[in-house]
Amino acid sequence: MIRKFYDVVVIGAGPAGSVAARYAAMGGASVLMLERDREPGIPVRCAEGVSVNGIEPYIDIDESWVAARINHAKLVGPSGNSAFLRNNGAGLVLERRIFDVRLCELAIAQGVRLLTKANATGLIRKNGVVSGVEFTHDGVETSVACNIVIGADGVESRVGRWAGMDTALALKDLDTCVQYTLDGIDVNPEYCEFQFGNEISPGGYVWIFPKSNHSANVGIGIAGVKAKDKGPKEYLDTFVAKRFPEASATYTVYGGVPTSYMKDEYVQDNVILAGDAARQVNPITGGGIVQGMIGGQLAGETAAEAVKAGKFNRRFLMSYKRKWDKRLGDNQKVMFRLKERFLGMTDGKFENLVNFIKTIPEDKFSMSYLFKEAVKEDPKLMMDVAKSFILSKLKK
Ligand SMILES: Cc1cc2nc3c(=O)[nH]c(=O)nc-3n(C[C@H](O)[C@H](O)[C@H](O)COP(=O)(O)OP(=O)(O)OC[C@H]3O[C@@H](n4cnc5c(N)ncnc54)[C@H](O)[C@@H]3O)c2cc1C
Repeated sequence: MIRKFYDVVVIGAGPAGSVAARYAAMGGASVLMLERDREPGIPVRCAEGVSVNGIEPYIDIDESWVAARINHAKLVGPSGNSAFLRNNGAGLVLERRIFDVRLCELAIAQGVRLLTKANATGLIRKNGVVSGVEFTHDGVETSVACNIVIGADGVESRVGRWAGMDTALALKDLDTCVQYTLDGIDVNPEYCEFQFGNEISPGGYVWIFPKSNHSANVGIGIAGVKAKDKGPKEYLDTFVAKRFPEASATYTVYGGVPTSYMKDEYVQDNVILAGDAARQVNPITGGGIVQGMIGGQLAGETAAEAVKAGKFNRRFLMSYKRKWDKRLGDNQKVMFRLKERFLGMTDGKFENLVNFIKTIPEDKFSMSYLFKEAVKEDPKLMMDVAKSFILSKLKK
């Protein structure tokens, strides 16, 4: 039996939702989490790459959901020229179908009630104020009352639209992705590979994330604006036919990745968004697991504070957005500007980038070193980044 009222209802039990639910419960709120699928984590729509540093604050690493430990990233330019970045054991390829369930278990341990096969269908309003959620559970229509709704329902979020937010993405800010899990191939399980170039993947990249020495997630993400004449599947099929002609695909994924950033709009009276729903994704890499967990934590903490204070209006809930901006949001806006540059990069520039990375001594490699050197090469980049930084500060 579920109760008639919970302080907080979280919609979606992905990484953002389960972490939001956990932190809201830890802060003393009663929490119900709704997941439309029969099990969290499936279907997997992800290449499953994360950094150890990123997930460690939220979960103890367990081999049951680690498919591979990554020691290097291999960047391959349009000509086949390549460079390695060493990151000794700092990366993981996950088994998300297990990982997502473990995150839910951690939420449940804090008192969260999870309902699977529970599909949210709308928000309930009393005198214009959001006061609950309508959903079907196992096909039966029902509803629950609450003071706060956290929409963690992924890239296609409907919660935002129900709450009257403008969550539409421009074509250039939505990467369309296709991925095969390939088996019967020969891969090195110690490194993830990234292939760049306008022939292979215009405005994006092809990834090979190993799951063992004979299987890998091989996928492509390209910006919607670049997929008008030829879709990502055609690009990926061409790549796979050449690189892994004998492979068998055991799993196919189609999905979208938002490459925008979180807007003020995504916080309204009684409703906040987290994770992909709030576009909390690195606009350059498309990585959103860790970002979603961080956003989830901040959303859950804010919801618990609101419950304690008995204040659920936008003014109070905006502290979530301010915390997000401080933690990752400002940086995400800078990344967004860089992504715009990345979209227009020529093959020559990609080659230069790979050649440049080759020159960085292994012991010196860090993002700040890379950035400093890249700016020396391209001063206009500095202007773009500075502009984004100033704009993000002015908007506060
Ligand atoms: C092809 C591809 C590859 C990717 N590779 C990587 C990668 O390697 N590393 C990385 O960090 N990120 C990657 N991402 C992005 C990453 O998958 C997402 O950023 C991450 O899953 C976001 O977590 P989330 O909790 O916000 O959303 P999701 O994981 O999408 O979870 C949302 C949940 O909400 C549920 N839901 C939706 N609507 C409702 C509803 N109405 N009622 C109830 N439940 C609902 C869904 O069933 C789902 O379980 C990739 C994405 C794609 C498409």
